[in-house]
Amino acid sequence: MRDGKTDAAGSGRGPTAAAPMRDGAALGRVLARIDGRGYASYKQLAGQWRLGALRLAVDHVQVDPYAPPSRMRLIVDAATAGLPADLIDDAVGRTGAADFLTRGFARVAHRLVPEPVGTGGSGLVSIGRPGQEVLERTGVVIAADRVEARIDVGLPASGRRVRGHRAAELLTDVLPRIADASLLHANLNRGALREHVTLLRDQERLRSLLPERGLVAFIADGVILPRRTGDCDLPLTGGAVVPFVSPRSLRVAFDLPSGRRVTGMGVPEGVSVIVGGGYHGKSTLLRAIERGVYPHIAGDGREWVITRPDAVTVRAEDGRAVTGVDISPFIAGLPSGADTRSFSTTNASGSTSQAANLVEAVGAGASTLLIDEDTSATNFMIRDERMRALIPADQEPITPFVDRVRPLFTELGVSTILVAGGSGAFFDVADLVIAINRYVPSDVTERARELAGAPVREPTTASGAGAPGAPGAPGVLAVLAALGASPPGARRAVLGPSGTTRPARARGRTSIHYGCDIIDLAAVAQLVDAAQTQAVAHALDRLSGVLGGREGLSDAIDELLRRIDRDGLDWLSPHRGHPGHLARPRRHELHAAVNRCRGLRVLPAREIAG
Ligand code: ADP
Ligand code: MG
Repeated sequence: MRDGKTDAAGSGRGPTAAAPMRDGAALGRVLARIDGRGYASYKQLAGQWRLGALRLAVDHVQVDPYAPPSRMRLIVDAATAGLPADLIDDAVGRTGAADFLTRGFARVAHRLVPEPVGTGGSGLVSIGRPGQEVLERTGVVIAADRVEARIDVGLPASGRRVRGHRAAELLTDVLPRIADASLLHANLNRGALREHVTLLRDQERLRSLLPERGLVAFIADGVILPRRTGDCDLPLTGGAVVPFVSPRSLRVAFDLPSGRRVTGMGVPEGVSVIVGGGYHGKSTLLRAIERGVYPHIAGDGREWVITRPDAVTVRAEDGRAVTGVDISPFIAGLPSGADTRSFSTTNASGSTSQAANLVEAVGAGASTLLIDEDTSATNFMIRDERMRALIPADQEPITPFVDRVRPLFTELGVSTILVAGGSGAFFDVADLVIAINRYVPSDVTERARELAGAPVREPTTASGAGAPGAPGAPGVLAVLAALGASPPGARRAVLGPSGTTRPARARGRTSIHYGCDIIDLAAVAQLVDAAQTQAVAHALDRLSGVLGGREGLSDAIDELLRRIDRDGLDWLSPHRGHPGHLARPRRHELHAAVNRCRGLRVLPAREIAG
C-alpha cells in the first residue's frame, strides 16, 4: 500500500525532524498492518501524529512488552487548552497548574486503564507519581504556545506480538479522551484548579515573608503533623489526632495574597530547642518542619507548615564516604594524626559523619539546621560535666555541637532547631525552649533559663593549637568563619563515574547508580521524591563534565541551577522530546549527592589552577 510505504519511510526520523505530520487514520492503518507481527514492528510509530486538536509525539518505542514503557508526549495548543492567563503568568502559578494537571491526568488514566490489557505493561498509561509535595516536575509543561503531557505508555502485546487493534484504540481513542478530560480547561474542575494555584501562591508568599519577620519556620494552628504510618506520607486520621496549637507567646499571623489570614507558631532565628517526654510528638514536629521547605497539597495536613527554603536536616550517617571536608571546628587532633581540616574517609563514624554533614550543609548555604536527637551521635552533640572533668579537653578530639551552636548563629547567622529530650545541656545556649506535652507545645524558655542558672558556658576547644579557652577564642571562631568564607563546596574537585561511562540513574528515592558505585541517599531526608533523585542523577552526569575545569563544586552547581531556571528542568535530561520523569531538587540535595560520591577527588588548588 502506498500509505504504508510513506509511513515506514517517516518512521525512522526523530520527532523533531520536519516530517509531514501523519493523522490518526494513518496511525490506525499502520497499527492494523502490524497487528500480530513481532513487537519490533512498533518501531514504526516513532514520530509525530495529529489526532484532532491533539498532537501525539512518540519519542521512544519500547523494545518488548516487559521493557520500560514507550515514552510519548501529548501536545495541545495553548489556545485549545485555554488555561486562564492569570493562573499561569508566573513560575509559581505554572508549577501549581502543571501539578494540578498532572494529578488529574494520572487519575483519569488510572480510571480508563486500571490494569494491563495484555502482556507486561500492555495498555498502561502513566505520568509519574507526585506525592504530597508540590514540586516543579517534567510531567506537564505549560509553555507560552502549548500544554504538553509527558507520559509512559505500554504498547499492547499478546505474548511478544503486536496487538495492533488494541493499540489503535489506546492511541487514537483512549489517549485523546484522557487528554481532553485532564488538559483542557473547559473540562477541568475550574474552581479546584484555581484553589490549587492560590494555595501554592499563598504558601510561597508566606515562605518568602519568613526572613523579614525574623523567622525560620512557621507552624499554623490547626495543622495535622503526624503521618499515617512510618512509611506513609498521608496524614494520620481519627479521633486520636491532636491538631497543632501554638503557644500564645510565639503566636504570629500572616495576611496572604488571597486574603487568607493564618495564625500559628513562629520559630525565630537563633537556637531553638524542642524538649519533652518520649513519644510526645517532638520528632513529628521536626519532621514536618523538615518537609516544610516544600509546599504541600490541600488535605495533606501540613499545608501551613512553612520553613525557609534553605533549611537542612543534619544527622549522623555512619559508613558514608567523606572527601576533603574541613571538620576541624568539631573534630581535631585525632590520635591517628589525620588532618581534619581536609578530612577524608570511606567509612565515617557517627560523630565524623555528622560533623561532615553539618559542615557540608553550611557550605551549601543552609540558613537553618534541623537536628533530632534520635538520629544524632551523642558524643557529637554533648559532653557532660563529669566527662569534661575526667577527660581533659586536649585529649578529646571532639568539640561537641553544644559548644558550637551559638557561634554558628552569632558568627555565621546559621540558626538551629534541635530536638533534645534527653539532655538539658542546650538550655544554656538556647534562645527558645519549646516543651511538647501530649503533642501540645508550650514556651518554657524562662523556666529553662532559671534551671541553667549559670551564664552561657564557655566553649571548650578541640584544636590544641592557639586555643586559650576563653569564650569566643579566636582559634575557634576563625575556623567557623573560614567555614563561611570558603565552604566545602568551593573545593576544587574532580567528579566522574568510575569504571563505566553509563549514564547515572536513580533507583527509587534513595540511591543512584553512578559508574560502578552506588550513592546512598537514604539519610538525605529532604530528597523526597524519586523523580528528584533521577534529576540529581542527570545533574551528576552534567557536573562530571564541568568539574575537571577550574570551577569549584559550588560554582558548578550554581551554574547548573541557573541553567535549569533559564531552560527548564528538561535541560537536565539527555533525552530529546520526553525528558523522563524529573522533579526539581534543591541545591542542598545536589551538594549532598556529590559529597557522597565515593569517586570524588579533591585536588589541591594548584593542581588544576594551571
Ligand atoms: P517523640 O519524638 O517525642 O518521641 P514522636 O514524634 O516520634 O515522639 O511521636 C510519637 C507518636 O505520636 C508517633 O506515632 C506519632 O505519629 C504520634 N503523634 C505525633 N504527633 C501527634 C499528634 N499531634 N496527634 C496524634 N498523634 C501524634
Ligand atoms: Mg523522637
